[in-house]
Amino acid sequence: MSTQNNGAPKPPTPSAQTDFSIEAHPGSHVNKVIAVVSGKGGVGKSSVTAMSALWTRRNGYQTAVLDADITGPSVPKMFGVGYADLVATEECLYPANTITGIKVMSMNLLSKQEDAPVIWRSPVITGAIKQFWTDVCWGYVDYMFIDMPPGTGDVPLTVFQSFPVDGIIIVTTPQDLVSMIVKKALGMAKLMKVPVLGIVENMSYVKCPHCGEEIRIFGDSHVEEIAEKYDIPIIARIPIDPEMTSYMDTGRAEYYESTFMEGLKDVLPPVD
Ligand code: ADP
Repeated sequence: MSTQNNGAPKPPTPSAQTDFSIEAHPGSHVNKVIAVVSGKGGVGKSSVTAMSALWTRRNGYQTAVLDADITGPSVPKMFGVGYADLVATEECLYPANTITGIKVMSMNLLSKQEDAPVIWRSPVITGAIKQFWTDVCWGYVDYMFIDMPPGTGDVPLTVFQSFPVDGIIIVTTPQDLVSMIVKKALGMAKLMKVPVLGIVENMSYVKCPHCGEEIRIFGDSHVEEIAEKYDIPIIARIPIDPEMTSYMDTGRAEYYESTFMEGLKDVLPPVD
């Protein structure tokens, strides 16, 4: 294949240093943006995103959740919001408001049929994610949590390059190859110059309903050694709690009382 370009100037090579950032809608004033990541699906990333948002909201902060996990957009379902909760004007699209006032935007909200699969090619998906920043009027938000798709593909890259992400929360489970996931997340964080705020180990243990003993059904956790090795705080260790599933999976996330995410108070960047 010829590499000649007839003397035309060479296009610049994109790199981590290239500025791909995009302007938020003038109707948005988002103070801190926190990305919630995991190595694979089903580890409870969306649940941790929802619980983080609940924690900041309960502590009096204006809170938003941007569901960028097009592989499994479960955030609207957790908060019991749907297509009918969106309001669009010529100027902008407003996020759905949950009963406690958390603002939510998700690909799922854009379709009347919430179980319709998103069968779009990558550039279309990344374009839609960017529009969640440029075309949505978020209003005033202290903390926005972004539920990222698992892994390090196109969408996470787009979010890190386009959005002003202030910190990353890594969600793992005891069965995960925690070291590898943390290394990858740290690699991406370093490249994007975003700090890792901490790790959440989900499905850490089961509490015996009779004696209260913590049973580690997935074996010993390695999260402590990894946290120490890479000098990352452990934000929370969350047990398997059937009650959580029943609240989260039936749109009643806001009724779920827990103190699991208290550790956020030590790691979240303060709002300006
Ligand atoms: P992900 O976003 O990583 O794909 P989800 O947060 O959607 O994972 O969780 C997957 C399923 O596991 C959901 O049904 C959720 O309610 C359930 N789940 C997550 N964490 C827990 C937990 N600690 N205890 C019980 N069920 C959980």
